[in-house]
Amino acid sequence: MSDYLVRMIARETGVRGFACLTTDIVQEAARRHQTSPVATVALGQALTSASLMGALLKARQRVALKFEGNGPLAKIIVEAESNGAVRGYVAVPDVSQSPQWGAFAVSEALGSEGFLTVVKDLRLRDLYQSIVPLPVGDIEGDLTYYLNQSEQLPSLVAMGVQLDEMGQVAAAGGLLIQSLPPYNPDVIAMLSERVEEIPPIRELLAQGNTPEDLLALLFGNLEIKLLGQQPLFFQCTCSRERSLQAIKNLSLDEVAEMLAAEEQIVVDCHFCHERYIFDHEDLVEITG
Ligand SMILES: [Zn+2]
Repeated sequence: MSDYLVRMIARETGVRGFACLTTDIVQEAARRHQTSPVATVALGQALTSASLMGALLKARQRVALKFEGNGPLAKIIVEAESNGAVRGYVAVPDVSQSPQWGAFAVSEALGSEGFLTVVKDLRLRDLYQSIVPLPVGDIEGDLTYYLNQSEQLPSLVAMGVQLDEMGQVAAAGGLLIQSLPPYNPDVIAMLSERVEEIPPIRELLAQGNTPEDLLALLFGNLEIKLLGQQPLFFQCTCSRERSLQAIKNLSLDEVAEMLAAEEQIVVDCHFCHERYIFDHEDLVEITG
């Protein structure tokens, strides 16, 4: 089963939302960035957050989330586009699990002091940017806080990343439910209680449940209408041409110096760890 997101609405209950499977995306990110288990879980939750936030966008819009804390992971940056493309990285990918932490304790690894910055490119003249403190340091709680405080929309977020005994990604995904006008907060409170009653999302997904199954479990007897699926995938915006452009933006002296030292210039993309290598011949156009 490839990654995807399903949209839903429950008019009588007064909510709309999304559920998604992000296993492939998190696996690919973990492989590209060589993340430790706790970093995999944190990055996986952040990538799932981006996938869910991306579903709120209109065509050709983008959203970026930066989780920045005082823990050893330092920061996690993820981006999503309206077409389902998602990417991201963690600043310190090889953080090891401390014996004092609970199992895969994202809140300890990220730290509870810091900020979540959300930047939206809505194809308007200015970018929309909003910053909230990290209230708990776990990605799920921080995103919930952001949606409720900054966007003032009663929202429920639940997500999870399940690792196997080797520390590899077995399953990942989540859901985001938001109140519809007139924004009755009791509905979100009721559904939040329901999330606590059902098994953890990561376990449900690891057992082979689909995003649709998650919604069916969450809503129980409440009527929901599924509005269609959208594929989700890991995709970066970097390219050899863009990397060359970045080199062209350096001074001629800098380029010459780097070439003299290493015989080549390596551009390593933060987001996907793709490496673009340029030698003398590639750069003759710049260096002459
Ligand atoms: Zn890249």
